[in-house]
Amino acid sequence: MRRIAIVGAGPSGFYTAKYLLEKNASLLIDIVEKLPVPYGLVRYGVAPDHQDVKGVVETFKQILTHERVRYLGGVEVGGKGVSLQQIRSCYSGVVLAYGASSDIDLNVPDEHSIKNVLSARRFVGWYNGEPDCVDVGNEINLDKVKNVVIVGNGNVAIDCARILSKNIDELHPTDITSSSISMLLKSSVENIYIIGRRGHVQASFTIKEFRELTKLSATKVHIDKDELSRGLTAASVKEIENNRPKTRIVDLINTVAVGDAINSNEFQKNNIYFKFLMSPTSFLSENKNGVKCVSGIKFEKNKLIGDALHQKAVGTGIHDVIPCQLVLKSIGYKSLPIENNIFNYQSNTINHINGRVVDKTTNQVVQGLYTVGWVKRGPTGIVGTNITDAKDTVKAIIEDIESGLIKDVAPNESPILTSTTITLDKYEKIDNEEIERGKNSMPIPKIREKITSIEEMIKTANR
Ligand code: FAD
Repeated sequence: MRRIAIVGAGPSGFYTAKYLLEKNASLLIDIVEKLPVPYGLVRYGVAPDHQDVKGVVETFKQILTHERVRYLGGVEVGGKGVSLQQIRSCYSGVVLAYGASSDIDLNVPDEHSIKNVLSARRFVGWYNGEPDCVDVGNEINLDKVKNVVIVGNGNVAIDCARILSKNIDELHPTDITSSSISMLLKSSVENIYIIGRRGHVQASFTIKEFRELTKLSATKVHIDKDELSRGLTAASVKEIENNRPKTRIVDLINTVAVGDAINSNEFQKNNIYFKFLMSPTSFLSENKNGVKCVSGIKFEKNKLIGDALHQKAVGTGIHDVIPCQLVLKSIGYKSLPIENNIFNYQSNTINHINGRVVDKTTNQVVQGLYTVGWVKRGPTGIVGTNITDAKDTVKAIIEDIESGLIKDVAPNESPILTSTTITLDKYEKIDNEEIERGKNSMPIPKIREKITSIEEMIKTANR
């Protein structure tokens, strides 16, 4: 009997399970997840107003209920949980699909000690009800925030700006937590600045997400035409040439800059300013009741140097300050190691060749150990990107099965399946409870009301 453990119940783990089931008719699969609940960033990353994306959960549910799959929730691999060695000893193969649960630092002094400077990951986790992040709402006091600076201009930055700007009536029926709705209702945010180190041509956001901002019912998007001209170096022009998606997004940015794409609604809730060619250098703070709170952020203006596709932002020595009461650092998620000898600390990913994990001390493939998803390739790409990635890893596993490299295991129960493990039937109790609470939510029903404490999830699961 061969049984594979997939560590992490996010999209990459589910797609790996899907293709393994398809390619091998007898393989058994355990999906091992740290939290009681599955779906990774589809539950805790993807924005609540993007329910079309969250719909992928229906595909994942089919995998969870497959007769050859078991869900083992509430089991952490590494850290305080079961060791990788332990888990490897009782499975034919292990696939590390545990994503990226930390943040890249800005490397600006005091970024971890000033109140109201936090990662976009924690902010996103807050409005999505991630147990580790539920306190963020009380920390940031949106009712006292007028200006928000978001450092970084990828789609996560855009998600944060949109949630802060969107009409609450549109967010209400989603699976955003009710406590976030209450805080957003009190919000006094007027201005959101989205800052990019390089120019508009190199901006990380995609056109769909950018266009969505320009269509918000009560928000004005502002772009400074002078900054666009500074970013349009000869090398930038080359980057746009023959690149259809880039041309379209630059065209839309230019249209917004001249004011044509701005909606003309009379009621204006807030402004979003896209700023380019700026790098943060320090935080300004003020003392409030003995607590050092952010009051502004100082930037150095940049210019671009280098060839097309390799342009770098370098400082000009000219500085600027944006007064603000909240800073969201949105420059990327970061994976953490669960074992040092397989982790590459430069790329913050697991060492691998086509999904087969490689021990960096011996430079040898670690037999029966594989990786997939963000922890394999870094924190980029959409849910669908994990499909081709999973196929690559599954190909390696199937090859290893066929060449006899993957061992059989005894058909006994997994040692990680204990009385405290959240199995599928237990998870379904949490799922049903959340849907029920959503139906009864006031003043209008919601898709679901997430349970945000692990303790309460476990209680519900064991009811
Ligand atoms: P994850 O989804 O992070 O899953 C990893 C899983 O592993 C988690 O469930 C985690 O709890 C678990 N885990 C972690 N550590 C351990 C451990 N030690 N032991 C056991 N389990 C562990 N894509 C889109 O297509 N559309 C969108 O609109 C979109 N919006 C996004 C918004 C945000 C804010 C973010 C961050 C991403 C978004 N994405 C979107 C991208 C998409 O979410 C990712 O491509 C995808 O989730 C990556 O899958 P993964 O399985 O590698 O990681």
